[in-house]
Amino acid sequence: MSKAFKGGLCAYCCSAESSTADHVIARGFFPEDQRGNLPKVGACVDCNNRKSQLEHTLTAVMPFGARHGRATEALLAVERMLVRNQRLHRLLAGGVRYAFRSINGSPWMPEMTVPFDSCSMEQLSEYIVKGLARYHWELDIGEDTFVRASFLRPEGAAAFDRFFAGAVKDRVSCDLGQGVFRYEGILSVESPNLTLWKMSIYGAEVGGDPAAPGQRVSMVYGVTVDKASRAAGLLAQILGGAEAATE
Ligand SMILES: [Zn+2]
Repeated sequence: MSKAFKGGLCAYCCSAESSTADHVIARGFFPEDQRGNLPKVGACVDCNNRKSQLEHTLTAVMPFGARHGRATEALLAVERMLVRNQRLHRLLAGGVRYAFRSINGSPWMPEMTVPFDSCSMEQLSEYIVKGLARYHWELDIGEDTFVRASFLRPEGAAAFDRFFAGAVKDRVSCDLGQGVFRYEGILSVESPNLTLWKMSIYGAEVGGDPAAPGQRVSMVYGVTVDKASRAAGLLAQILGGAEAATE
């Protein structure tokens, strides 16, 4: 491993020393010809292991919602993975459902869905947000920073977009692996650790929000913001999470 990732602070907990290089977006999400030059940051072993566990399940589940150009290929890769991994195989086989669906008035098409725990995608996205904030802007996202990533309903997304359109110090927009992972981020001028993110994996759509039956979303919204800053309360309210609940 390159020395550059050793001895700094772990990008995810910002308390332990980093001892390993972590791919911010796991290589397993990408086809083999698209794994070069993915963003990496220094991480401690504990964070690296916890993040890997989330990635392990999600690299198998997310392709089922894939809408990007190489969706079929992503699903075939899952098939190969399931042959080797019995636990995942049982998890998915137990919950596969078939449905018919029409998109924008097109003919009804059969569709397979798998059980999907949106919390695990949101948790992984929180790691990704911290990793990208370190990768692009060398930020240390420690305990005094509120971090949250979530799927938003249209009202929440609209409120978030108003923030996103605000004054920026810097802006990034990337498409990794031809639609595998797309993201946009801004570094705000308003406070030092204020970053906002929109991202999607495979353009995959997820549903299952009991409060919004039939609705599907593909974008995860993320934020890092100093807990003491003015924007923190409002962003926590938009994105949900523990802090918002105690406001
Ligand atoms: Zn750590």
